[in-house]
Parts: sequence; structure tokens; C-alpha cells
Amino acid sequence: MSLQVIHYPHPVLRHRSKPIKKVDAELRRLVAEMFNLMYEHEGVGLAANQVGLPYRLFVANPQADRDSEETEQVFINPVIRSGKGLAEAEEGCLSIPGVHAHVLRKDTVQIQAYDLAGNELNLDLDELPARIAQHEIDHLDGVLFIDRLAPAQLAEVRDQLTDFEFEFRSKSETGEIPPEAQIAAQLEELERLRT
Ligand code: ZN
Repeated sequence: MSLQVIHYPHPVLRHRSKPIKKVDAELRRLVAEMFNLMYEHEGVGLAANQVGLPYRLFVANPQADRDSEETEQVFINPVIRSGKGLAEAEEGCLSIPGVHAHVLRKDTVQIQAYDLAGNELNLDLDELPARIAQHEIDHLDGVLFIDRLAPAQLAEVRDQLTDFEFEFRSKSETGEIPPEAQIAAQLEELERLRT
């Protein structure tokens, strides 16, 4: 199976993922593929449901550069333990390419997660890493950054969103995107293997 980045308004982006119970060679292969896709699309983070996987994990690299491997991080079953302050900055999303808007987030967050080796991570994040973690954990709950926009901000990107909606409907009609019930059944099957 080759992964690809799934665009708004595909229903998998509204899937709330359950924690993963099983990490194996196949999952490590999928994570490596997620990093590849993220770099290919010049992203700084990618959540599993953005590539059609109903797993509670995301990959990130604030450097957006495959050569800075030391800043790569896999977050498995991430939980925001606490957050402080507020910060506003522009965000985009590989699932809604070309759409950008300012989003209000916590300024700093404390994240608990696991890495691929099963080590528990307790990270105090600020700046871009804090924003990436909050954006990606939102994905795992089926939330997109456009859900956090004020009505006036949303109005500014409405035309672009309509284009994505139109494209989704066309692909659904041609069968390139399967019917919603089939997508739901696929997600359930993938979930059964690992959660
Ligand atoms: Zn995103």
C-alpha cells in the first residue's frame, strides 16, 4: 500500500483516532513513508489520518528538511498534559494546500507521548514545535485548523474550501473516492489490527 496525502473534505479527516496498542515493523515502515510524504510536500507535521490511517500518531520536523534528522520526531498516542499562554500565528495544512490563516493556540504545551521504540516522552514545547503538536493532535481528534477560525477569517478562505469540496464531489461521483460507508468499513478494519 502506498500512502498519499488526503485532502479536505474527505471523511477520514473527521475520524477521531483511538490509541495504538501495537507497534511493529509494518507501523515503522508506514511512519517512514509518512516522513517521506511530509518532506515531499514541504510540511512540518503529518498526522496518520491525513494518509488514511486511523491511528493516534503523527510525525513532525520543525526544520521541514530530511537532512535534519535530529529534529525528526514521532509522537505515538500523544496527550497534551498542560498548556500555558496564548500565541497567534499563520498555519497551513497539507490536507488543505494553499489555504493559510492565523490560528490562536496555547503558547507552550507539555506533551506526553511514546516513540517507536516504546520510550515515554515528556516534552515541554514552545514556538513552532508547540504549534505543530497542537495542530496535529487536533487532526487525531478529527479537527482541522479551519474549525478554529473566526467567521470573518473563514469567509476569507470560503472560496478555496468550496473548490476542495467540488473536487471531492467529482472524485466521489467518478468512484475515485469510495462511498462513505466503504471508507468507514476500511477504517474500522485498520483500527481492529492495531487499537
Ligand atoms: Zn494539518
